[in-house]
Amino acid sequence: MDFRLSVEQQAFRAKLRHWLDETLPLRVEPPRESAEKVALSREWQGCLFEAGWAGISWPKVYGGCGADTIHQLIFNEECIRAGSPDSLNLSVALGLVGPTLIHCGTEAQRQRFLPRILRGDDIWCQGFSEPNAGSDLAAIRMRGEVRGDSIVVTGQKIWTSFAQHADWCILVVRTNLDAKPHEGLTFLLVDLRSAGITIRPLVEITGEAWFNEVFFDEVAVPLENVVGEIDRGWDVVITTLMHERGGTAPHARLGRELRALIEYSMTAGRCTDPLVRQTLARLAVEVRIAELNAYRNASGIVRTGQPGPEGSILKLYWSELEQRIMDRAFEIVGLGATLLEGDPRAEADGFWTHELLWSRAASIYAGTSEVQRNIIAQRVLGLPR
Ligand SMILES: Cc1cc2nc3c(=O)[nH]c(=O)nc-3n(C[C@H](O)[C@H](O)[C@H](O)COP(=O)(O)OP(=O)(O)OC[C@H]3O[C@@H](n4cnc5c(N)ncnc54)[C@H](O)[C@@H]3O)c2cc1C
Repeated sequence: MDFRLSVEQQAFRAKLRHWLDETLPLRVEPPRESAEKVALSREWQGCLFEAGWAGISWPKVYGGCGADTIHQLIFNEECIRAGSPDSLNLSVALGLVGPTLIHCGTEAQRQRFLPRILRGDDIWCQGFSEPNAGSDLAAIRMRGEVRGDSIVVTGQKIWTSFAQHADWCILVVRTNLDAKPHEGLTFLLVDLRSAGITIRPLVEITGEAWFNEVFFDEVAVPLENVVGEIDRGWDVVITTLMHERGGTAPHARLGRELRALIEYSMTAGRCTDPLVRQTLARLAVEVRIAELNAYRNASGIVRTGQPGPEGSILKLYWSELEQRIMDRAFEIVGLGATLLEGDPRAEADGFWTHELLWSRAASIYAGTSEVQRNIIAQRVLGLPR
């Protein structure tokens, strides 16, 4: 394939880069407190919306820019390059909820929810995993009972990222106990302010509380918030999950981490060691491979109109590369990388420790490495189960 950008794509990148450079110098240091991060994330999404940069690959009819996945990739790359604030809406609301409603929602649901996502009014979280249903999502047990004009939901979700900051949740519940595992599920849009919901943050190995346990006790969800049909939620889940592995720019984030490691190695005199130089060169090649995989994946989506199983190649590669970069960073930075934020002897105020610990999650979320290998084996290579 031809990896060169078209004249139009290059112009899109230049215009965006100019706007980001004009807009972002006003920004101060990224906040450390999560409440401030969330406020900044909402503000940034509103700013993107006002300037016409919200929902790059969403259709124009739903308020998006009507561009394709390559443009979305360029957008993500440029935002990372410019050090823009994190958008909590980028991964779940813009990346998953929007495309799911565009493909499977009713017109009323699209009109109600999509503009609020684009403006950053609502933050969404993803309530799929349960204590006994992660990789095997069809094992979901959370109960949903149709009563009058509502589905009444009882049960527990777990690992729900930023639920404590979210307004809405996409939720999968079991509405038919007699059906086969993939049948009898229903996909819901749940207002997290509804009565009967308890959210308990879980503290991770990094010391931060990113994900949560979410308990539902007889929570009434109006039937108008069902996406697709009752008992046919699995088809909607598949649509959501296919978007989880497409259109992202992980190489841009990894490239930024590698540049930080190269800068450290230069200033700390570590580059006189030929083994360090070889390590950095090898990682640079691998980040470039991740970039080319991201473009190949995005081109496939543009060509076929939807994400395919090849997205698993990208997810598997970048998540394991992230861990390799952090493992090598520890060898190069040495003992100063083992100390936590706040310790005066910690390199970069604990940045490397935080990133190493966080990188362990990369081969678990959005499908574990083992699950990605199964998908590649069966659906890309056509091997037997
Ligand atoms: C940082 C982070 C954020 C997350 N955010 C969310 C979120 O917002 N919403 C949400 O719903 N979930 C979220 N998750 C949950 C995530 O989707 C699950 O952890 C993941 O799907 C794995 O499920 P599990 O933890 O139940 O592990 P299990 O599925 O129990 O897997 C345990 C081990 O068995 C292996 N395994 C399982 N099945 C197979 C198989 N068929 N073949 C080979 N090996 C197998 C796995 O690879 C893994 O090593 C998040 C997870 C993390 C780490």
